[in-house]
Amino acid sequence: MHELALCQALLRQVEAVAAEHNASSVSRILLRYGPLSGVEPHLLRQAYPLAAAGTPAEGAELVMEESPVRVRCRTCGVESEAVPNRLVCAACGDWHTDLVSGDELLLASLELDIPEDPAPE
Ligand SMILES: [Zn+2]
Repeated sequence: MHELALCQALLRQVEAVAAEHNASSVSRILLRYGPLSGVEPHLLRQAYPLAAAGTPAEGAELVMEESPVRVRCRTCGVESEAVPNRLVCAACGDWHTDLVSGDELLLASLELDIPEDPAPE
């Protein structure tokens, strides 16, 4: 279960951010993923409640946004958007390109519930 491991890694980040802000719970999680990341959004969504059970992020709304594939051309240096199965430069058509983004899975933003009077430690 690749997606479960991914969820657990993400939740560790979420929990660290929540703890940093003394949040009591997390209401919304925005993830950004590239089409080349190999992430299956529906599998991640299925695995999420399992991974989040018992954490401050249990019950949080999980929002997933696909990020574009971008490449930088080694020939002309232009950075452009590409389609996942055709990583060519949009400016000159050369296929000698380096992937700039499109294979990432990132925690883009979090909405936290922060109590006004945090309980004394
Ligand atoms: Zn080019």
